[in-house]
Amino acid sequence: MKFGTKAIHAGVHPDESTGAIMTPIYQTSTYVQAGVGNHKGYEYSRTLNPTRHALEKNIAAIENGKFGACFGSGLAAIDCVIKMLNPGDEVISTNDLYGGSYRLFTTIFAKYGIVFHFVDMQNPKAVEALVNEKTKMIWVETPTNPMMNIIDIEAMSAIAKKAHALLCVDNTFATPYLQNPLDLGADIVMHSVTKYLGGHSDVVMGALVCSDEKIAGEMYRIQNSTGAVTAPMDSFLVLRGIKTLHLRVQRHCENGEVIARFLETHPKIEKVYWPGFENHPNHDVAKKQMRGFGGMISFTLKGNKLEEALEIVKKVELFALAESLGGVESLIGHPATMTHASIPKEAREKTGVVDSLIRLSVGVEDVEDLIADLKMALA
Ligand SMILES: *Cc1c(COP(=O)(O)O)cnc(C)c1O
Repeated sequence: MKFGTKAIHAGVHPDESTGAIMTPIYQTSTYVQAGVGNHKGYEYSRTLNPTRHALEKNIAAIENGKFGACFGSGLAAIDCVIKMLNPGDEVISTNDLYGGSYRLFTTIFAKYGIVFHFVDMQNPKAVEALVNEKTKMIWVETPTNPMMNIIDIEAMSAIAKKAHALLCVDNTFATPYLQNPLDLGADIVMHSVTKYLGGHSDVVMGALVCSDEKIAGEMYRIQNSTGAVTAPMDSFLVLRGIKTLHLRVQRHCENGEVIARFLETHPKIEKVYWPGFENHPNHDVAKKQMRGFGGMISFTLKGNKLEEALEIVKKVELFALAESLGGVESLIGHPATMTHASIPKEAREKTGVVDSLIRLSVGVEDVEDLIADLKMALA
């Protein structure tokens, strides 16, 4: 089955008792048993709930995996993955990781004896140099936020396999419509479902997908033991959201390209970061592992003035000034004072997050209106 068909049909079937075509919101904590242990596959909703179960199967299918698990947030999903490790184990990750993942690794798990290394993963040799017998996991995020760097998933998989370490890929920015890390050698795919999968800025949720039975066993054991599950209502909303994922992401990509090319020619703009540009440093890797370049774009202003950037993000009318991304509506953000405010200026500037950097999550509105809005704000 191809992507759009899976997005709409995988994991869901009409309700047997009523014929309801949509998976009902099974707002229940428990399930009646005919006798001890004699139930219909559901005992308690932390362990399994039919609405969540349908969504877990659906997300697994669109990531070309066998097993899916949904959590109360993207970070809860990451928390589950790191809990597969033991004290003393080492993780190698990227130096421009999503801030929340960095905080979880360094302020929560480091305390429990797990060691994290952060390195520029655009250079596989630098990753290889950190591998030792304690390396148990490689954690990749690509494209990265907000610099849109691209990491070669197949190259990371080769390093992970040689080290007998797990490869996990945060696929939030790319979406399964554009990139399937399991097909490129990853062991686990993670999503902040909050973003493109939900797609309507109305749910906070996370997901994991894998194909290996042993990893899946651990994933479900930790999900049930720690209990950071998502709710039936939210599962319903995301099932609904995913039905249009392919249509939405197609439009995100189309609008993204038009806006990236518009920004590139604007006299006030210094540099545009978007992996679809032929001169993007890892455009070839992006072309190899992605089926499109998405609607996430960052840019800097000539003169790199903080006040000018703050003025622009305030002046736009259609783009909403907000954190998050991946919804149908266009958002604008200022990483240096918003998502990356907690990182010291010198450290953030080293990774490219300068004072005038502005990030766009291009939505699915009519692109002419979006361009007019940016033109007005930049004037
Ligand atoms: C938002 C985000 C997360 C965290 O997900 P939450 O749903 O906010 O917990 C992780 N990784 C990336 C790339 C994200 O954008």
